[in-house]
Amino acid sequence: MQFADGVERLRAERPRLEFGAAWDYAPAPEATDHLRLDGRYGLYIGGRFVEPKSGRWFATINPATEEPLAEVAEAGEADVDAAVRAAESAQRRVWGRLPAAERGKYLFRIARLLQEKAREFAVLETMNGGKPITEARDVDVPLAVAHFFHHAGWADKLADAFAGRAPRPLGVCGQIIPWNFPLLMAAWKIAPALACGNTVVLKPAETTPLTALHLAKLFDEAGLPPGVVNIVPGAGETGASLVNHPRVAKIAFTGSTEVGKLIQRAVAGTGKRLTLELGGKAANIVFADAALDQAVEGIIRGIYFNQGHVCCAGSRLLVEESIAEDLIARLDWRIRSLRVGDPLDKNTDVGAINSRAQLEKIRELARAGVDDGAVMHQSDCALPGKGYFFPPTYFTGVAQSHRIAREEIFGPVLAVMTFRTPDEAIEKANNLPYGLSAGVWTDKGAKIFAMTRRLRAGVVWANTFNKFDPASPFGGYKESGFGREGGRHGLEAYLEL
Ligand code: NAP
Ligand code: MG
Repeated sequence: MQFADGVERLRAERPRLEFGAAWDYAPAPEATDHLRLDGRYGLYIGGRFVEPKSGRWFATINPATEEPLAEVAEAGEADVDAAVRAAESAQRRVWGRLPAAERGKYLFRIARLLQEKAREFAVLETMNGGKPITEARDVDVPLAVAHFFHHAGWADKLADAFAGRAPRPLGVCGQIIPWNFPLLMAAWKIAPALACGNTVVLKPAETTPLTALHLAKLFDEAGLPPGVVNIVPGAGETGASLVNHPRVAKIAFTGSTEVGKLIQRAVAGTGKRLTLELGGKAANIVFADAALDQAVEGIIRGIYFNQGHVCCAGSRLLVEESIAEDLIARLDWRIRSLRVGDPLDKNTDVGAINSRAQLEKIRELARAGVDDGAVMHQSDCALPGKGYFFPPTYFTGVAQSHRIAREEIFGPVLAVMTFRTPDEAIEKANNLPYGLSAGVWTDKGAKIFAMTRRLRAGVVWANTFNKFDPASPFGGYKESGFGREGGRHGLEAYLEL
C-alpha cells in the first residue's frame, strides 16, 4: 500500500487537515529563578554531601542548550563501599528496627515535601533531562509523589499484604536507574525499598543526576536518619561496583537489556536478589472499529511523549489494513502540529533528546530505516540551533525484518505496519524478544480481552497509552526483564517472605 499517496490524497480531500503555521503561540517559558543550583554536588553518603574519594568530578549539562548546570562528584569503588557500609549500618541500627508505622511517617513526610517543592523539581528535571516542562510538571513529579504516598501506606500493612507469612527486609538494596525518568525512577525504587525496611544505595544515570541529589536534600529536610538513602552518581563502572559489592542484598536495575544481561551474569551464584526492568518495542494495535481521533492521540502519546525516551513507548504501530490510509493521514497531520523546542516553554510538546550520544543513536537507526527501504516521514518543524533535537518521525513501508521494526530506538520514531486479522496482529506484536508493553484500540470490549490474553507483554493498555499508577504492577516478559514494580507485587521484590 502506498501510504504516501494516501496521505497526499487525504490532505487534498480534507482541507481541514492542512497543516503548517496554523497557530503561532507567543513563547511561554517557565521561570527558573526560584531554583537554586549548587555549583558542585558531592556524593550523598551517611546523610551528608561528601567529597569523592575518587577525586573525580564531571559536568552535567542542559541538553536543550548544551550549557553546563553543575559539577557532580563521581563515585569510585571506595565511595560505593562507603555508601554500602553507611546503608548497612543504618539498616541494622535504625531503619530495620523502627516500628513500621514510623517508617511510613517518614515516607508520608517525603511525599508531602516533594509535593510542596513540585515546581522546583519539575524545572530541574526539565533542565537536566530535556523533557517538556508540562510533562515534568504533570507526569513525573506527581507520579513520584504518588509513589511515596502509596508506599507510605504499605509500610505498616506488610503483614496484611502477605498474610500467614513473615515479611522481613532484605538489607541494603543497590538501585541503578536510567535517564529517561530520573526523579520518577528514583521514587519508584526508593519508596518500596524503604517501606519494607531496607536501606538504599542509588546510582542515578550519568546524564541526569540532579533531581536525585535534590531529593537527597529533601530527605535531610524530612529528617530521614543518615545512611537510609545514599546517592552515588557516576557512570557504568560506578553501577558495576554497586552490583559487585558483597554486602548488597538486592539489585534493582532499570536500563538497557544489554546492561541487564551483564548484571544478571554478575549476580549469578551470589545469592543476591535481582529485578530487571529492561528495554521494549511495544506494539500499539489499532482496529478498524476504534475511535480514530482518540487512537491518534494515543499513538502520539505512545511514541512522542518524552521524546520517545520511554521503555514502554508504542514504537510499533500495527494498523488494520482497511483504515490504514485514513489513520496515517490523521497521524501525519497531527505529527506536523507538534511543537518541538525549548523544553521549558509551556507550549512545547516534544523537548530535547537527552544526550548527544542518544541523538546519534536515533539518527543512526533512522538512517537504517531508509537504507532498509522504508519510507521516512518527518515533521518539517524548525529545530533550535543549539541542543539535541530530533523531529517527530514515522516510517511507512516497514517490513518486520527492518531494524526500525526490531530494535529499540528510544526516540521519537514510529514504525508503521499493517495487519488483516487479529491473529496476524498478535503474531506481529509478539515476534520480538521484548515484551514490556502493548496497546489495543477497539470499540469492542470482548476484542480487548481476547487480545490482552494473548499479548506477551507485562502491561497492556486498552484505548489509552502510557498511563501509570503506583498501585499497578509494572514489568516485562522475556528480554524486557523480570520482577514487578508497584502495588503489592512490587513489595515482594523487597522482602524475605
Ligand atoms: P543503560 O546504559 O543500561 O543505563 C542504565 C543505568 O545503568 C545507568 O545508570 C547506567 O549508567 C548504568 N550502567 C551502565 N553500565 C552499567 C554496568 N555495566 N553495570 C551497572 N550499571 C551500569 O541504559 P541507558 O542507555 O542509560 O537507558 C536507556 C535504556 O534503558 C533503554 O534501553 C530503555 O529501554 C531502558 N529503560 C527501561 C525501563 C524499564 O522500566 N523497563 C525504564 C527506562 C529505561 P550510565 O548513565 O553511566 O550509563
Ligand atoms: Mg548508558
